[in-house]
Amino acid sequence: MASDNGKRRGFSRRRFIQGAAAAAAASGSILSSAAREEEDAEEKHGRRRRPPNDAPDTVLINGKIHTMDDEGTVVSAVSITDGRFAEVGHSSRSHHGPNTKVIDLRGRTVVPGIIDNHNHIVLMGNRPGFHTPLENAYSIPDVQAIYAARSAGLQNRDAWITTIGGFHFNHIYGNPSDPLSGRFPTLQELDAAVPNNPAFMMISFSGPGATNSAGKAILERQGVVVASNGAIAGGFGVTECSKALLYLRQTLLNAAERRRSVRDAMNYAVTVGVTTHLDQGAFQATNTAADGAAHEDNFTMHIPFLQVYAQDKAIIRLRINFLHMESDPATPELVQRLKNAFQFLGNDMVKTGAIGEFIAAGTSATSPFVAAAKRVAAAGWRAEVHSLGRRNTPASNPADFELEIMGFEAANADFPGVVRERRWVIAHVPGITQEWIDRLQAIGGNLSLTGWQYLAGNPTASTVAPYAGPPFRMIVDSGKRRDGIHAGLSSDGMQIAPMNPWLHMYYATTGINTRRVLINPNQQISREEVLSLYTRQNGWFLREEDQLGTIEPGKLADLVVLNSDYFAVPNEDLKKIRSVLTVVGGNVVYDGGVLDLRD
Ligand SMILES: [Zn+2]
Repeated sequence: MASDNGKRRGFSRRRFIQGAAAAAAASGSILSSAAREEEDAEEKHGRRRRPPNDAPDTVLINGKIHTMDDEGTVVSAVSITDGRFAEVGHSSRSHHGPNTKVIDLRGRTVVPGIIDNHNHIVLMGNRPGFHTPLENAYSIPDVQAIYAARSAGLQNRDAWITTIGGFHFNHIYGNPSDPLSGRFPTLQELDAAVPNNPAFMMISFSGPGATNSAGKAILERQGVVVASNGAIAGGFGVTECSKALLYLRQTLLNAAERRRSVRDAMNYAVTVGVTTHLDQGAFQATNTAADGAAHEDNFTMHIPFLQVYAQDKAIIRLRINFLHMESDPATPELVQRLKNAFQFLGNDMVKTGAIGEFIAAGTSATSPFVAAAKRVAAAGWRAEVHSLGRRNTPASNPADFELEIMGFEAANADFPGVVRERRWVIAHVPGITQEWIDRLQAIGGNLSLTGWQYLAGNPTASTVAPYAGPPFRMIVDSGKRRDGIHAGLSSDGMQIAPMNPWLHMYYATTGINTRRVLINPNQQISREEVLSLYTRQNGWFLREEDQLGTIEPGKLADLVVLNSDYFAVPNEDLKKIRSVLTVVGGNVVYDGGVLDLRD
């Protein structure tokens, strides 16, 4: 398939003007004289690239297209030329030629391609076996159907079907009417779905998990303890699950399998509408049973992705952060990275990012966190870190976000303006408070919000932060102030959280977890607000707000046609939102078969 490969084909000021003209025409006005003058100037300088009545490559008509632009404009048609939006306006005005692909949306809701500003899709693309997301399974029969379908699509009856993280048994109800009955399927239930392929699933970093009879027989030969019902113990550190994972990695992964896994991950992403991913790295693998789902080799795990991009088979946009977690005060690897790598280098499809989601091991006074922050600042890079903590009692024992904000302040004092100019970020922040939001805002820091508590989170008894977090309402309201804090949304998938953005939007707008318990009261935000965080605001987090995040003339043509009206469906149905058509750079990268795509 064609890709724009960063050549910025067809992008010119003129396309913006044409789009503006179309919008003006649609609203009954005419091309402004200022726009006409600019157009004449473009022509004089020979920048015009297309004849005036040149037809677009694709037009989508008769939709409810939420552009997410400054005014929240909703239009019915867009045209796409050379991978970018050309006209954004109304169906009756859209022009097209004999070779234009015309897609009739038949009233469907369209949103910009979802941008996930903090996830771990590179880990997902390096999973052993045929990784099969279970984040959309809500019952044992759902799991059985998903695994049976996966098996039916495989040539090899001996191939492992695996699910390594990204889901939780909390939302797989044994009894659909009882949200407290969450559990793994039993060995017998998995056998019924996939009698031949060995199967293995595990939650979080190192389990617990479950297997079927074929998987049990193989794993037991490797010394993994499997209960008679297929359960495999997990927890922290070396577990029966992590032993099984090591075996699967060592026997199943090779270069070709990793590339296949990359394409599987991409193919899943476009079904839920996530078109751009900012990857936040992995824990450095030790190649022992101490490694969990979040461990990989930070120095080689991007290779299969880069190969898929080089083969022109990639269908999502990837931005790559470099994770550094050194406890050595000299942070030698970070120093070399900053000397020898480049940030934001690449093209529209794949490029490097910042240092994150760790810049050093730990945040305490004994960790090199502050020194690392100053090194990142001195090199003029962006720093991204994460916080999972809450304020302690007494507050003299600071929480991780307090230490991080103080570290950012110290770096900013030595290199004035670096936090604001380079857009430094703290992610997740379930326990952050207004006082600390204000301190971070004062130096221009930014927050990436994550709905990861949705899967396993519980209410908190804390009087300081009486919510499971993050405090979406508090943070979004802080962003509305003058020079307010920038916020974006992210999944932090694919170990402790799902990738599916509609689950995170459900949690941000309802505060309700998978067990249907309200755990984030008084912090709900609106559907408009959360969709904005996941699209236009995240374009800003990528430093690509002029390229991505809204449907506007001249921007990269990424959009998602939804199976239902996001703005109108009942809360519970938010979880069922999927793409029926995903477009990246003007190319259809997922077709759910609902729309008529004949030319
Ligand atoms: Zn993360």
